[in-house]
Order: sequence, then structure tokens, then C-alpha cells
Amino acid sequence: MAVTKKIKNQTSFSMTEKEFGKVMDALYASHHKKYEVTYNDKFEMNLNPELIDKQGLTDKECKHIVKLHISRCKLFDKMKQENNVRVLRRYVKDLTQIEFDLQKAWKFKKDARFHSWWFLSPKCTCPKLDNWDSLGTGYHVISEECILHGKQHKK
Ligand SMILES: [Zn+2]
Repeated sequence: MAVTKKIKNQTSFSMTEKEFGKVMDALYASHHKKYEVTYNDKFEMNLNPELIDKQGLTDKECKHIVKLHISRCKLFDKMKQENNVRVLRRYVKDLTQIEFDLQKAWKFKKDARFHSWWFLSPKCTCPKLDNWDSLGTGYHVISEECILHGKQHKK
């Protein structure tokens, strides 16, 4: 009897379509908020919710990806402050490792052809659009003058 009464109460609860939409938006926002990457109190990026669903990632796995991005932000900060070429080139290697870790965390194959953070890193002067275009091809478009990737600065 108690169960019947409960269902009855629930069906008597009504909402307009607009109210329902608001509730759904709030639910969506609260669900995805934890997959926001913030670094030094600054919003950096959101993890793509469609991709999270597609890859079937758990809450724990998503939080791990957020952590990796925070590591990347920290590394970018260090790169901004560093001018020593040798140190910077070591950071480039650290970044490559983070990109591999990110691919693994996203359940993608570890594949350097799909790395994109290297040409988005501070002090990199390699052409961005050309590198977006050649993503996945195995070709990197390197600027000779780039302090991080160019030949000119190699010791
Ligand atoms: Zn570069």
C-alpha cells in the first residue's frame, strides 16, 4: 500500500517543459563540471563530454585526464619562464610523455602522429595551422627558428 501511495505522489508532481529543461541543464552542468581543467584558479578547458561517452570513461578515468592536463599546464608555466635551450628541450620531452599518457588515459592508441600540444606550447614558433592540417600524417611542420623544435638551436 505504501508503494502505491508513493507512485501516486510522484505522478501528481508536475513541471512545465521550460522548468524541466532548466533542471536538465543544471544536471548536465553539475555532471560535467568536475571535468573542467582549472589551473591557478583559471579556467583552462573542458574535457569533451561526447568523447567521454564515446570512449566510455569512468569518473575516475576522467579525473586522471584532468590531472594530466594540470601537469601539462604546470609544464607550460615552466616553459614560459625558462630561456635555457637545453632545459627547454628537456621540457619538450616531458611534454611528449604527457601526450602519450593522455592518449593512454583517453583509451587511444599511443601514437605520436596525433600529438598536438607540442606545437601549442609556449615559445614554439612552428606554424600552427599547417600542423593541425598534417595531424595524423606523421609530418611535423617545423620552423627552423623555433627554439624548441628548430634545427638552428640544436647543440
Ligand atoms: Zn616549435
